[in-house]
Amino acid sequence: ALETLEKVDTIVLDKTGTLTEGKPRLTTIEVAEGVDPEQMLRMAASLEAQSEHPIAKAVVDAASERKLELVRVTDFASVTGGGVEGRADGRRVLIGKPLLHSERKTGAMDALLKKAEPLQQQGMTVVFVAIDGQAAGFIGVADPIKATTAQAIEALHDLKLSVTMLTGDNEGTARSVAGKLGIDQFRAGVEPKDKHEYVTALRNQGRIVAMAGDGVNDAPALAAASVGIAMGTGTDVAIESAGVTLVKGDLRGLVKAVNLSRSVMRNIRQNLFFAFIYNALGVPIAAGLLYPVFGLLLSPIIASAAMSLSSVSVVGNALRLRRAKV
Ligand code: ADP
Ligand code: MG
Repeated sequence: ALETLEKVDTIVLDKTGTLTEGKPRLTTIEVAEGVDPEQMLRMAASLEAQSEHPIAKAVVDAASERKLELVRVTDFASVTGGGVEGRADGRRVLIGKPLLHSERKTGAMDALLKKAEPLQQQGMTVVFVAIDGQAAGFIGVADPIKATTAQAIEALHDLKLSVTMLTGDNEGTARSVAGKLGIDQFRAGVEPKDKHEYVTALRNQGRIVAMAGDGVNDAPALAAASVGIAMGTGTDVAIESAGVTLVKGDLRGLVKAVNLSRSVMRNIRQNLFFAFIYNALGVPIAAGLLYPVFGLLLSPIIASAAMSLSSVSVVGNALRLRRAKV
């Protein structure tokens, strides 16, 4: 990974948990007519209690803050990069992004979708809840951008790297986050397999791609990238699929890794020079190259000094990396 990072020309970034805190908080509950918001939240939280997704945690936390008791869930299923479904209190509940609802043919979604638009334009993520196949309401969660992200993006642009954001989130939320960070390329509504395909396509174009992500949904793309970079705050499967882990989940670590890689590779080339220059000079002299004209041979004392100096130069030069500005 350290060797490849030097040559990276394209950076692909996941949004949730990578650019943002990944710890969304519930900020809005909106319900369709005749639905009790607490009741809806209770059912949603009961299901989400079984999901690993950051949005799920926001929903569960909100329910426990309101001291809502969760109910037993059966037939639970999770759609990675989409949402969750199951039965709570004997009723069929589906929570997730609009695409999942249209696949499951949830009724009466339109009014809620319209109502959610302004929230999404502010960068909020909205997940929709259906009960027994009918739209019941939506839950808006806000996931603040990490304090270190803007600086990291700026530094990546300074390194002349192409930066693209991929997210499973919707267009409006994605546009808002990308805009705030000055990321000019982004793709929204991306399925986990599309993230993988996107990275593979870039590589097929000959690009050297570093992909940073944190989620289960990012793992295939992390494995497909030239260098996968996992957030240490993310899921285990992402960490296992990646070559580099940014322990604190601070994206500035990616900039550091690229800079370190550039310094290391430059240093290795310098060291190759140091390793060979003593031999290139010493061996011909020892072999008698200068003897016929100058009567010069290499004394074994000097030869062994040169041998050691070669190591000293290499190690000394490598130690400079401790002070490399990364
Ligand atoms: P990202 O690429 O931003 O990390 P994901 O691919 O994990 O996002 O999720 C994409 C979308 O799927 C989310 O924005 C959300 O609408 C929906 N989703 C995924 N998991 C859940 C869940 N457990 N509960 C509700 N919605 C979910
Ligand atoms: Mg993520």
